[in-house]
Amino acid sequence: MKYYSTNHQSPGVSFKDAVLKSMAPDKGLYFPENIPALPDTFFKKLSGMPPEEIGFHFLKPYVDGALSDKQLYELLEDVFSFDIPLSEVGPDKYALELFHGPTLAFKDVGARTLARLLSVFSAGTKTTVLVATSGDTGSAVAHGFFEMPDTDVVVLYPKNKVSKLQEKQFTTLGKNITALEVDGNFDDCQRMVKAAFADEELQKRMHLSSANSINIARLLPQAIYYFYAYGQLKNKSKPVVVSVPTGNLGNLAAGLLAKRSGLPVDCFVASGNRNNVFQEYLETGNYTPRPSVPTISNAMDVGNPSNLARLQELYGHSFQAARKDIVPFHFSDEETRHVIAQVYHETKYILDPHGAVAFLGLSAYMEKHDVTGIFLETAHPAKFYPVVEEEIQQKIAIPQRLSKTLHLPKQSLEIGHHTEDLKRFLLER
Ligand SMILES: *Cc1c(COP(=O)(O)O)cnc(C)c1O
Repeated sequence: MKYYSTNHQSPGVSFKDAVLKSMAPDKGLYFPENIPALPDTFFKKLSGMPPEEIGFHFLKPYVDGALSDKQLYELLEDVFSFDIPLSEVGPDKYALELFHGPTLAFKDVGARTLARLLSVFSAGTKTTVLVATSGDTGSAVAHGFFEMPDTDVVVLYPKNKVSKLQEKQFTTLGKNITALEVDGNFDDCQRMVKAAFADEELQKRMHLSSANSINIARLLPQAIYYFYAYGQLKNKSKPVVVSVPTGNLGNLAAGLLAKRSGLPVDCFVASGNRNNVFQEYLETGNYTPRPSVPTISNAMDVGNPSNLARLQELYGHSFQAARKDIVPFHFSDEETRHVIAQVYHETKYILDPHGAVAFLGLSAYMEKHDVTGIFLETAHPAKFYPVVEEEIQQKIAIPQRLSKTLHLPKQSLEIGHHTEDLKRFLLER
């Protein structure tokens, strides 16, 4: 399997190179040249198949010999060391709970896979992984790479601009994880990382790699839990619809890959917050990227979603074609808060703000269609306890793996917001 750049200017590469390079030299994203369909025998056995086995069948053609069968299977067993239950929230409505991993958000699946692949592909070579974060990515990546041999992770985050809880998740690990507290905003962090990759001296002196969400190895494994969710449905007599809370569109793109490989999902609901550039594109065909505005579902505050290029590849750049598979909705913070309170009072189920947006999208769709609906619960509600507790008027139990980091001392280094500050740090340590 070859991977081509969505900008079509750089040559195609192998899976290993696509993972190691993360982004193509022409700044496009790598995309597989074909999407193999899974055989009928796979779907016959799907009910009860564990995620690592689903992942093995799904990923094998994409990995294409870069790992042995045994390596791939064991890697996936290691990645899926936590449960991904499907929980009934209402009639024909199910939450796919993707928050039972180490950092309580769905990004654990992609980050853990990428970490393990990079460690195989760069074996024996000391590699420094740079990641800029506005919150959740930093913790998923830091935990994914924690104690991996030969890899150092450097997390850049904007000082005073991530929640205390998020900050504690990636600043208390130590060992091979270093947190840099940048005197600037998230855009500065991202710019510094990009500049480091473009710096010839750094490139000569060290192996740099990136763990940002555009890496194909973070995207592909996310397709696995869509199959796993379908396999867990007991009653498949009605059409199945999946609602995805969208930000950079990685999760949605993975679901669409699963559908293209044969997963019998009727359509996807793209549920957004006020940052609705993608929803607007599907409605009008006009794509107008703009600076993001802050919302309570902040992991979805994206004004120029990076995976749009991959979605456009999937649908031959036709928004009308995409509309056949994707139904757009978006919601305000007020609606999101309201539904958190309402669902809690009716069912005792606690939604986080991102899952709540997905729930709203699914409910809007189901008002007009008789289907079985699944929505993705992408984060544990405890990660957003100030908002959630206010709406449900209850204290939320904070899971132990989160609460224990709260008592550990923060270890971070403050640095300025210039590329030179990062370069000096990388060269001098
Ligand atoms: C990252 C994130 C999202 C958005 O996912 P994308 O793949 O960027 O569209 C939604 N919910 C949570 C909790 C996230 O961390």
